[in-house]
Amino acid sequence: MNNTKITADLKPIKMLFNEPLSHFTYTKTGGPADCLLFPKSTDEVKQIVDYCNNNDLPWLCLGNASNLIVRDGGIEGFVIMLSELNQVTINDTTITADAGAKLIDVTYKALEKDLVGMEFACGIPGSIGGAAYMNAGAYGGELVDVFESAEIILEDGRFVTFKKEDMHFSYRHSILQEMKGIVLNVTFTLEKGNHADIKEKMDELTHLRESKQPLEYPSCGSVFKRPEGHFTGKLIQDANLQGLKWGGAQISTKHAGFIVNIDHATATDYVELIQHIQKTILKEFDVVLETEVRIIGREK
Ligand code: FAD
Repeated sequence: MNNTKITADLKPIKMLFNEPLSHFTYTKTGGPADCLLFPKSTDEVKQIVDYCNNNDLPWLCLGNASNLIVRDGGIEGFVIMLSELNQVTINDTTITADAGAKLIDVTYKALEKDLVGMEFACGIPGSIGGAAYMNAGAYGGELVDVFESAEIILEDGRFVTFKKEDMHFSYRHSILQEMKGIVLNVTFTLEKGNHADIKEKMDELTHLRESKQPLEYPSCGSVFKRPEGHFTGKLIQDANLQGLKWGGAQISTKHAGFIVNIDHATATDYVELIQHIQKTILKEFDVVLETEVRIIGREK
């Protein structure tokens, strides 16, 4: 890549070359992005996508990097982070949030306006775009429950609006996982509720999360999807894997579904430990553990 030319061609978009993604990922692991860009507007996102198309450059969009393992070789081409696209507007019971806004912040804004429906998400550390991509959920709620529509820029640079039915939401899945596009914003429909009740629910879920999850360590949340008819944590415990260390990574002693970075872990430590868990659970219980976390990037 010709860094000088890219900087000149895409001025004034903020960008960093060869930037370690470990500075951004929740696991604090991962190699560098060839070029990491921080668009400030939808127009800038479009400019980047068009530029990649015209110059045959690969690109990828990241949210808050809380559900990602970026391999130690980093990511080729452009990595687009939407953290500076983070406006949230509320109109009666409708919230429209830019893709880079934090899901947690949106839940607290809903609380401020006495809007009920997003309490389940008050501890999920993703962005709005990443939450739509994943159909993030917890404690019986999922994004699909409050989702109305999303504005998306497609791979070819066209803008489209996807309604709920277009998103094909299912457990930790949306159609975005089968196509290439960037969510620019999401509109949610909530209902008017009682402030004290909403706050009580959020406090209860926050307490539950803090008591059950190893939030004191870097991690990517639940590594695996829940397999039909089983609980991942229980399977891992029953296979005597809980507490196992692999390089600087460890299966959390507090929650066996989490892998925590306890001592300068690499992405390779994470990936190898995940593979070891999958092999062991398949052998011992004949259960396939599918990753919820997205593993991306090139080998070192
Ligand atoms: P990222 O990790 O940045 O990206 C995930 C995927 O989404 C990538 O493939 C990326 O390309 C894509 N993506 C991101 N933004 C966009 C966009 N704007 N347009 C198109 N594609 C995009 N998840 C839950 O569901 N429930 C939980 O209770 C939960 N608890 C967690 C607790 C902890 C401590 C941690 C670290 C994680 C937890 N997670 C949980 C996982 C994570 O927060 C969610 O999956 C979240 O939705 C990911 O959002 P993100 O912005 O961080 O996405």
